[in-house]
Amino acid sequence: MFGKHVIKDLSAYCHGELSPHDASAVAEHLIGCQQCRAEFEEIKLGVKLAESLPQLEAPDSLWDDLELLLDKQADKQPLSIVKPARLKTRSWLPRFAAIAAALILAVGLGAFWFYRQESRASWEVARLDGAPRIGSARINDKSQLAIGQWLETDGVSRARINVSSIGNVEIDPNTRVRLLETRATEHRLELARGRLSARIWAPPRLFFVDTPSAVAADLGCAYTLEVDDAGSSLLHVTSGWVALQLKDRESVVPAGAACATRPGVGPGTPYFEDASQGFRTALSKVDFELQETSDWKLALETVLRESRPRDTLTLWHLLYRVQGANREMVYERTAALIPPPEGVTREGIVQLDEKMLHLWKGHIENNWSNDSGLRKAWIKVWTRSLGKVKGLEGKK
Ligand SMILES: [Zn+2]
Repeated sequence: MFGKHVIKDLSAYCHGELSPHDASAVAEHLIGCQQCRAEFEEIKLGVKLAESLPQLEAPDSLWDDLELLLDKQADKQPLSIVKPARLKTRSWLPRFAAIAAALILAVGLGAFWFYRQESRASWEVARLDGAPRIGSARINDKSQLAIGQWLETDGVSRARINVSSIGNVEIDPNTRVRLLETRATEHRLELARGRLSARIWAPPRLFFVDTPSAVAADLGCAYTLEVDDAGSSLLHVTSGWVALQLKDRESVVPAGAACATRPGVGPGTPYFEDASQGFRTALSKVDFELQETSDWKLALETVLRESRPRDTLTLWHLLYRVQGANREMVYERTAALIPPPEGVTREGIVQLDEKMLHLWKGHIENNWSNDSGLRKAWIKVWTRSLGKVKGLEGKK
């Protein structure tokens, strides 16, 4: 599947016109193929531009010119009857401009109408258990969730949402979610509290879940996300990758890993769920307690001591988040687990030299994921994150 490019299907994909099977095949290809993904970004940009077109009335006089033009075509008169000599006459130029303007307007209006229609779309909701509600109305069997509406479950009810053509989301008991946006370039839910499980086959960064302390951006994956009453959240990824973001802080979480978030702090450091209990408890301290206290330092030492080669996922994120002597400690441990290749120096890594970080990561990421397609996607995601994390550091 990774061998065959999907460029010709991208427009249909972006507009939700493919069958679920084809859409899923295109999405999978996009995760692994940089060339098609670049093309897809262009198409999304075009769609966004079309969405931002203002709605205008075309003056009647413009249509006369258009009709004339079409009549001429019907008479099989080639459009090139406009001879160079006539091009120079002053009377012709405004006419041509008017026809061109009308054509652009007509295309623009068509596009605007299409996308306005689409942006009004709602998501289909199916009742799984009990009596979930949309606003104050109970869902008997099936219903529609429109933009701005809350879907709520009590202690015994569950529901499933079909997210346009890109996946589905199961809503557990005691959960409150709202549909914020659904259009070709962005599908967005707000999870105020409770728990949801998402299975998304869209290409990276089309489906988002806002929580009180971070935004989960899908990178082609399946995951569960829960939010407690204090607004903290916990993400578990079962396939693919998910990025958790708050402002400039981003954690990229692969399958088998989890990541906590806290209000005011944002995402913590991702970790594999099979890491030791001591590792996980200490990491939570490193992430969410005051840095540079003796307790915090002990916690960092525990994280380093308990880490296995696979836990370089965590150490790698920590390199960017701690400073000075602490970063040197993180470097030492990471280097002991996966020795850096030639050309990578301690000084370079401690100064966050991008080239060296990249080189080293090529070696250590094999411990995080066995899927080569996803690994390629990860490299791209990471390159983008790098600048952000560095930017954050500058503000401290
Ligand atoms: Zn391709």
